[in-house]
Amino acid sequence: MDQPLPAAADKPVLARAERHPEKAHRPDNAVARKPAWIRVKAPNSPEYAETKRLVREFGLSTVCEEAACPNIGECWKSKHATFMIMGDTCTRACAFCNVRTGLPGALNPHEPGNVGAAVARLGLRHVVITSVDRDDLADGGAAHFAAVVAAIHATAPGVTVEILTPDFLRKPGAVETVLAAGPDVFNHNLETVPRLYPTIRPGARYFASLRLLARIKEIDPAQFTKSGLMVGLGESWGEMLQVMDDLRAAEVDFLTVGQYLQPTPKHAPVDRFWTPEEFAKLADAARAKGFLMVSASPLTRSSYHAGDDFAALRAARLAKLAGADARA
Ligand code: SF4
Repeated sequence: MDQPLPAAADKPVLARAERHPEKAHRPDNAVARKPAWIRVKAPNSPEYAETKRLVREFGLSTVCEEAACPNIGECWKSKHATFMIMGDTCTRACAFCNVRTGLPGALNPHEPGNVGAAVARLGLRHVVITSVDRDDLADGGAAHFAAVVAAIHATAPGVTVEILTPDFLRKPGAVETVLAAGPDVFNHNLETVPRLYPTIRPGARYFASLRLLARIKEIDPAQFTKSGLMVGLGESWGEMLQVMDDLRAAEVDFLTVGQYLQPTPKHAPVDRFWTPEEFAKLADAARAKGFLMVSASPLTRSSYHAGDDFAALRAARLAKLAGADARA
């Protein structure tokens, strides 16, 4: 089945203009037909249905549904859902993102407990927590993020927690607050190359995002860090290599790269579909630059196979440390 996947949710589906009021006046961009290597199967397994039932039972949002992720059938079959906290409405208006935009409501004080309970019920080993941007909150939602991580640790001990955070732009102290909660992986996506920020991520600043990643390692050099990029928005090969260098300068451990897919005609058009062979070359180039882990394929998303990848990431660090010891 092609992506996006409208059947993923039985939540009320808002009209496009309601989900993205800031984009309503824009001319439509034709949605390009996807190449054969992008096609995915319809989500219809019993495990998928059970994951969806639990998400509803606990009243949670997932980025899998909100972003119309093409991998939802595969991920939810193995109960791997990425929870999106702090509501379903984002204060930014990125040109690539299908998450609803507008003025969000108040934070739900029960959300940390609900996420912890859902993680325990799903029987996960590793969970990914992401959020909308909350520029309206004084701390950008950092304390709430930390409360969710703490609730998972308390309710589902032994589960490793990966967080995929907003940039906390102009929210001093936010990174420190989130980090103090003890996430196992701290992910913040750069998303695209700096030249494209004004059109693709207009509310963000490339060097602020990069600085956030560097800051995490300054505070805790042992913290695993991760970042992701999309291709297909008009970036060049050389620009991708430059961003990889920037990420390595910030000592980021794990890089993910996936193909951008245009969610609606109001979103940025796909410039081109990178081929699986080009993804393999990107992965080779990234490994040569020293990332501990690289995941690059057309359907790679930040949270895709995150549990297995975290195990491999830990193993890669141990192998690197063992190699360093042997040479000493
Ligand atoms: S790749 Fe991530 S966002 Fe997509 S379905 Fe899987 S867990 Fe959800």
